[in-house]
Amino acid sequence: MFQTTIQRTVATEGVGLHTGVFGHLRLLPAPADTGIVFRRIDLENFSIEARGQNVARVSYATSLMKQGVLLSTTEHLLAAVYSSGIDNLFIDIDSIEVPILDGSAEPFMAMLDQAGVRRLRRRRRYLKVLKPLEVTEGDRRIGIYPAEEFRIRCYVDFPHPLVGRQEVEIAVDSATFRYLLARARTFCFERDIEPLRAMGLIRGGSLESAIVLTNDGVMNGPLRFPDEFGRHKALDLIGDLALAGLPLLARVEAYKAGHALHTQLVSRLLADSSVWTITTDEAVNAEVPDTVQPELPVPAAD
Ligand SMILES: [Zn+2]
Repeated sequence: MFQTTIQRTVATEGVGLHTGVFGHLRLLPAPADTGIVFRRIDLENFSIEARGQNVARVSYATSLMKQGVLLSTTEHLLAAVYSSGIDNLFIDIDSIEVPILDGSAEPFMAMLDQAGVRRLRRRRRYLKVLKPLEVTEGDRRIGIYPAEEFRIRCYVDFPHPLVGRQEVEIAVDSATFRYLLARARTFCFERDIEPLRAMGLIRGGSLESAIVLTNDGVMNGPLRFPDEFGRHKALDLIGDLALAGLPLLARVEAYKAGHALHTQLVSRLLADSSVWTITTDEAVNAEVPDTVQPELPVPAAD
């Protein structure tokens, strides 16, 4: 497999979900071995690589920070880029936050369709996981395990009649992402809106950019999928795993995890080079026998 970038520059614009700041975003072709790099064009093209080393504060969205320069809410755009197999890309932006658009990754997929894919003359490098790594925080867990392809399993549990327990498991590629996850929108609970506003968050939020759940229903239906919430969590997970910086050959299981746990896993993974190797051959079977594939414990139904 060869590395890729996009054929031509594409652009969009909009407000950021949390800051409410309006910004312009452009995707541009980049040479081999560049990776995915954000450039703050309002700050003399200051570059922030989409890598775990640059993860900043993470709560309701994933933010990158380098030398004090911040870029927020990268996850939906990175999910689209990463799932589409784009290895190298410049993302030029003139504000502090990626536009939220409709709250899903679909508008970014449409941009990538318009941009086209260009194959580069350099072999693609994969980050192949060799042994399990898990991060736990209370009853939230995430783990990464050896696998021959990039797979995720994502489990959410919210006490709400429309959500409850939802589980999504897919082998991630551009087709599965496009048809199963990309259209799933971000969501919040009506009761959380005022507290979040008071914290200075969701200043750019609207009924056009997120599903708002009332106590027993949804304020701005219809849903795009009956399990849109679980699908969106899976989308978020992929966007955060993109911060590994290379395509993963691994299986990731997330149980009630969020951005904080997703990015902790990526940081710990990158910090421990005994857990992975870098290979140009996606078919190579590592030294790890197939039997070493522990399951993340699934809680018993209660
Ligand atoms: Zn999201």
